[in-house]
Amino acid sequence: MLLVQKYGGSSVADVAKIRQVASRVARSVAAGHQVVVVVSAMGNTTNELLALARDVAKTPGRRELDMLISVGERVTMALLAMALHDSGVPARSFTGSQSGIITDDAHASARVVEVRPDRIKASLAAGEVPIVAGFQGVSRSREVTTLGRGGSDTTAVVLAAALGADECELCSDVDGIWSADPRGVPGAVRLGELSLDEALAMARNGARILSEDAVAWAHREGITLRASATGKSDGGTVIRAMVPEARFVAVVADVQLALVSAAEMGLVETPCIRAAGPWGAIVDCRNLHGTEPGVGVATVAVVGARCGADPARLKEVMCLASACLGEAPELWWASTDAVVLVVKSSDATRLERHMHFSILGRSGISAPP
Ligand code: ASP
Ligand code: MG
Repeated sequence: MLLVQKYGGSSVADVAKIRQVASRVARSVAAGHQVVVVVSAMGNTTNELLALARDVAKTPGRRELDMLISVGERVTMALLAMALHDSGVPARSFTGSQSGIITDDAHASARVVEVRPDRIKASLAAGEVPIVAGFQGVSRSREVTTLGRGGSDTTAVVLAAALGADECELCSDVDGIWSADPRGVPGAVRLGELSLDEALAMARNGARILSEDAVAWAHREGITLRASATGKSDGGTVIRAMVPEARFVAVVADVQLALVSAAEMGLVETPCIRAAGPWGAIVDCRNLHGTEPGVGVATVAVVGARCGADPARLKEVMCLASACLGEAPELWWASTDAVVLVVKSSDATRLERHMHFSILGRSGISAPP
């Protein structure tokens, strides 16, 4: 099989972990697979680089920011290639540009427009493991671009699609996709299997475990994803094209948001806008890098296939939310696969737990309609 394996920042946080990743990759190679590896920056590197930029300039330019933060992934790719050599596995590292990841010009939140993985194919044909720096590409005007926070997932998925890979495995310190954040929500359970539609609804509403662009690309191309823990060989969640049951599967809270008034809308870039209406917009603050307009808010999204389009389910969610908050949320919306409630940041955790407990129960399984 041809596998793309992406390793997140916590999985490559130090040299010992990079060696562990090298052994995991070596095991897949020994099992007879062709493997393309995509890596994130080590641990907290991207945040540290962003902090340096803010120390040196009040409003660092986005082009230079991309030059700076694309470095994190390059450090990892070279170290992992060295670690693989050391264990006798031929490997070669490639930047996003060398891997043929072509993007638009939107620095710090660029979109992939084309993938020409000629060098990756050649490396595979030569019997090597290509190691690709995630999170970055090159624009048609030959500028280095980055794909937005969490963008290494996107690198992995677009390469999997372009190479016709059998599976794209996203490895992190979390064992798969859960019905809510297991660190904060008692009763959250791991979802063994998920449809790409459900995963996309989770990602769109801020489930940090999945990058929205990556899942959207997988959804469009029908790529099978596997979310795994780097340190475990079983478990995880398989995400594939299928028609899911119409039932709630997850509650997703996102606290890194701002509510920006209609008057302030000119201050935010389109890729950062989560939802917009005559009232203004809900903006994802993670890719703003500088301007921080609006007031901090959170969303709590209840996700389930076709549930947002079902009036009875919508009513159920609104009643439960009102019971928890003491009043109906002022701002909310429903898409086909989710009902999204906008709340004060300080109410988010309480509402997240309440919705998960009330809808998904102690077992994490929603009651039949
Ligand atoms: N290193 C980048 C980030 O921290 C990209 C990634 O990890 O996917 O957002
Ligand atoms: Mg990530």
